[in-house]
Amino acid sequence: MSTDKPAEQDAQAEPGPQSVTGPRINKGLVIVNTGKGKGKTTAAMGVVVRAWGRGMKVIMLQFIKHSTANFGEQRAAQKMGIEMRAMGDGFTWRSKDLDQSAELARAHWEDCKTIIASGDYDVIVLDEFTYPMHYGWVDTEEVIEALKARPDMVHVIITGRNAPEALVEYADLVTEMNVVKHPYQEGIKAQPGIEF
Ligand code: ATP
Ligand code: MG
Repeated sequence: MSTDKPAEQDAQAEPGPQSVTGPRINKGLVIVNTGKGKGKTTAAMGVVVRAWGRGMKVIMLQFIKHSTANFGEQRAAQKMGIEMRAMGDGFTWRSKDLDQSAELARAHWEDCKTIIASGDYDVIVLDEFTYPMHYGWVDTEEVIEALKARPDMVHVIITGRNAPEALVEYADLVTEMNVVKHPYQEGIKAQPGIEF
């Protein structure tokens, strides 16, 4: 666990809006970044870097993304000594072998459960994890049970479109990214450093 000084002792810490009266509690959060707009994974990376900056133990577990992918965030993580594991098969909606994608996602989820329960990490990102739930490969209720059973101060961030309603209900912080414009619609290629 982290040895850096906690946020409440940091003169620069922003307490945020105080809409609730009475004592405020300290707890690990379940955070969901969902919606059709760009920025879900990027926002999770932002938190990873922020927590890493505080000396917290962080890990990013990527579903869907191929284990041989070498995206900018994976290169950054390697340089920074942040653990990042891509364990997908590059699944797309056009993926031919859905049974294999499902099997891989289930196996990956089993590893994630062990990591979540271990208490070895302060922040755990399950990137693109909404898809295995949305497609019914991983049972959403089982995920919620695993989140409920996790050690108190563990933060878990789940990204991806179509977050299941039950997960949204259970989560502490849910942000929905909306598309206003995307360069893809203008025929602009994915730009390195921005998209991957
Ligand atoms: P990012 O990883 O850039 O934060 P994201 O996690 O929000 O994006 P995903 O749903 O994981 O987005 O989609 C992955 C890729 O698809 C990204 O390269 C992103 O730019 C692209 N994308 C996201 N939204 C749209 C959209 N509305 N139209 C076209 N491409 C999109
Ligand atoms: Mg993403």
